[in-house]
Amino acid sequence: MKPAPFAYAKARSLDEAIDLLATRSEARLLAGGQSLLATLNMRLSAPRLLIDINGIAGLDTIAKTDGKLEIGALVRHAQAERSPDIAEHAPLIARALPHIAHPAIRNRGTIGGSIAFADPAAELPACLLALGGEIDVTGPKGKRTVKAEDFFKGLFETVLEPQDVLTAIRVPAATAQSRVGFAEFTMRRGDYAMAGLAASARADGKGLADARLAYFGVGATPLRAKQAEAVLADGKIDAAIAALDDDLDPPDDIQATGAVKKHLAKVLLGRVARQLLERRA
Ligand code: FAD
Repeated sequence: MKPAPFAYAKARSLDEAIDLLATRSEARLLAGGQSLLATLNMRLSAPRLLIDINGIAGLDTIAKTDGKLEIGALVRHAQAERSPDIAEHAPLIARALPHIAHPAIRNRGTIGGSIAFADPAAELPACLLALGGEIDVTGPKGKRTVKAEDFFKGLFETVLEPQDVLTAIRVPAATAQSRVGFAEFTMRRGDYAMAGLAASARADGKGLADARLAYFGVGATPLRAKQAEAVLADGKIDAAIAALDDDLDPPDDIQATGAVKKHLAKVLLGRVARQLLERRA
C-alpha cells in the first residue's frame, strides 16, 4: 500500500524540529524510518507532516563521561554494533544489537527511534531498563532527563509529549564487577521476540547483587521481574524461576499464548541466570 499524502521538512537544528512539531498537530519525527514508514504504508498512521531529524548535528555520537556511556538518538544500530565503546562500556547493549531485525534495517534504524517507538517486543528498551539507564528529552520548555523506569507507559506509549525530541540515552558504564545476560526466543532470526530477557547484576564476591531482570515481549512495556530478582540475589535459580509466576502474566498475542510466553520466560531465566553467574561482562 501507499501512505496517505504528507508534507516533508528537514530540520537543521533541535530548535527547528521542536518549532516544526508545533506547526501541525499531526506531525511526526522521521529518524531511520524503519518503523514509521511501515506504519504509514499500512495506513496505521497518517501524519500530515514528517520532520526529518537526520540532519541535526551532534545526535550521532557515543561518548563516556562521568562513569556513564551516552549514546546519541541518531546513532544507527549498525554503528552501535561496531562501536568499541559500546562493546567495552555497555556489553549488554552490544549483546542485544545483533538480535534486532536484519542488517539492512540495522543500517538505518536508530537507537532513539527504537526507544521512542517503544515496541513491547523490542530489545533496547529492555536493555535500558535492565541497566537502570536514562533518556534525555528536549521539548519547548527545555531539556529533561527521564529514568527508563518511568519512560515506558503502555503499548507503544511513552512519556514523550507531542513536541518532544529524544536526544540521547545514558547507561552506567560497566565495571569489573558488572555481569550481564541476554537471551530471546524468536520464530525466525531477525523477528521480533516472542519473549526475551535482558539482565544486569553486580558480582559481590559471594554471588550476585542488584540483579535487574527486564523482560520484553511478555507485556505492554518492558517489565522488571522484581520478585525473581530478589531471589536470584541469593543464587537460587530454581526459586527465582518459580517466582516468575507472581511477576509475569503475559497476555496472548499473535505470536503465542500467554501460557507459552510464561514457559519461555522461565526457560530464558535459567539461561540468563547462568550467564550472570558464570561470565564477566
Ligand atoms: P522511525 O521509524 O524513524 O520512527 C519510529 C517512531 O519513533 C516514530 O513515531 C518517530 O516519530 C519516533 N521517533 C524517532 N526518533 C525519535 C526521536 N529522536 N525523538 C522522538 N521520537 C522519535 N526492532 C527491534 O527492536 N527488534 C526487532 O527484532 C525488530 N525487527 C524489525 C523487523 C522489521 C521487518 C522492521 C521493518 C523493523 C524491525 N524493528 C525491530 C524496528 C527497528 O529496530 C526500527 O529501526 C526502530 O524501531 C525504529 O527506529 P527508526 O530510527 O527507524 O525510527
